[in-house]
Amino acid sequence: MVTTTKKSQVTNPLLTWKKLRSTLTGTLILPDSEKYDESRAIWNGMIDRKPACIVQCADVNDVVTAVKFARKQGLLVAVKGGGHNAAGFAMCDDGIVIDLSNMKTLEVDPKTKTAIAQPGVLWGEFDAATQQHGLAVTGGAVSTTGIAGLTLGGGVGWLMGKYGATCDNLRSAEIVTAEGKILKASPEENPDLFWAIRGGGGNFGIVTSFEFQLHTVGTIIGGMVLHPMEKIEEVLKFFRTFTQNAPDELTAYAFTMTSPEGMQMAGIALCYCGEDLNEGEKLIAPLREFGPPLADLIGPMPYLQQQSMLDATVPHGQFSYWKANQLTSLSDEAIEIFKTQAPSATSPRTMVLIEHHHGAINNVTPDATAFSQRRSPYDFVIISLWDQPEESEIHIKWTRDFFEAMKPFFSAGVYVNTLFNDEGSDRVKSAYGDNYNRLRELKRKYDPNNFFRWNNNIVP
Ligand SMILES: Cc1cc2nc3c(=O)[nH]c(=O)nc-3n(C[C@H](O)[C@H](O)[C@H](O)COP(=O)(O)OP(=O)(O)OC[C@H]3O[C@@H](n4cnc5c(N)ncnc54)[C@H](O)[C@@H]3O)c2cc1C
Repeated sequence: MVTTTKKSQVTNPLLTWKKLRSTLTGTLILPDSEKYDESRAIWNGMIDRKPACIVQCADVNDVVTAVKFARKQGLLVAVKGGGHNAAGFAMCDDGIVIDLSNMKTLEVDPKTKTAIAQPGVLWGEFDAATQQHGLAVTGGAVSTTGIAGLTLGGGVGWLMGKYGATCDNLRSAEIVTAEGKILKASPEENPDLFWAIRGGGGNFGIVTSFEFQLHTVGTIIGGMVLHPMEKIEEVLKFFRTFTQNAPDELTAYAFTMTSPEGMQMAGIALCYCGEDLNEGEKLIAPLREFGPPLADLIGPMPYLQQQSMLDATVPHGQFSYWKANQLTSLSDEAIEIFKTQAPSATSPRTMVLIEHHHGAINNVTPDATAFSQRRSPYDFVIISLWDQPEESEIHIKWTRDFFEAMKPFFSAGVYVNTLFNDEGSDRVKSAYGDNYNRLRELKRKYDPNNFFRWNNNIVP
């Protein structure tokens, strides 16, 4: 856990800021700027941090300039890609925010089925560009999430059963190190760094370019079925059998949520990305027949539609608190606890997910990349959401209580991109699993002074 922030040490502010501004192609935002408040607002409305400055980088040179400036001034550094990290690591108090959100160049090469993207690109933008060529890579399930933080933490999504984690499809990256050097990381160049950034988050440098391997993805079968909350036990038991028999092309999540009309529901959302949609329809038939559901919203659809279907449920600026852990299995006992806890959700905006992880993402050995969470069949994720600040305590307590009750069913692992920064260093170690020691060695090599420490930190 990182709790310390360092006060700005800028000694001669006017001169210092003027000099920094004159060396940037991008924009320097200071607390007295009109744009300061909008520039420090990120996805989680609960995060209200006030940095000494925000450097909105235009290119890799700006990133180098900002890194060198931060070193000279002894400032804490936060790095912002899409700004979606729920714990709010994209913003810090008093330090410098190196904001990459304007760096949005994206090139797709349909011949080699590759894409090169800058770190400000969001999944909706990435998918729209790659889908023009009938291509895609495993990406986040919400289109406003950034490609950068998600890929560096591992990356799970609807295509993971077939095509693996997002980081499994990373071919190379360009990185600005803590010294301000620009390095390439790939299987051929700095392979140890390439290993570390595929799951090690922002610990090793600032990635200014990602090269991805893409895959052919056309029309998929996607959507969800919805049942009343009273059926939660049957839904989860059905989900268990359904997922145990699922081929790699089929990825499904069970969830609970409340409809805009206030009805509590349990559902199953899915994506079938196989070539033969008739085969997909056959596989999905039992899901449609089971219940029957209150609503069956499943059908063939463009992949882009699937990738934005959850957007409205998680708008920017809501207050949010998460707790997550992987499960060893979905036992009857785990279902019983889930059934007791989920309906007592204190906020109607809250969602609880059980994601099925299988196929390509779990077929990679856990030490092949820094992302090691590849053995558990399910990931349990509580996403509490609300919009009244005075309600925070009650919703956070409910989230923690549900999490505690599910502990007997947890495996050792937690996905790093779901961690909050109040969880302690042991939880951070659990996220990196058996790879933690190697990550520490590489941290000593690439960032011995822990310049990049405002993250799920690997202590050198
Ligand atoms: C609504 C919602 C839905 C989500 N859905 C999914 C999902 O389907 N699958 C999934 O895997 N995750 C999902 N996530 C989690 C997501 O992976 C993380 O929130 C991730 O950090 C988002 O990346 P970002 O660039 O938007 O984040 P930011 O908040 O901008 O960055 C988070 C951290 O990542 C690091 N970082 C970001 N960019 C760089 C860079 N270029 N170089 C070095 N370090 C960098 C920094 O430490 C930074 O503080 C979801 C999150 C939300 C809020």
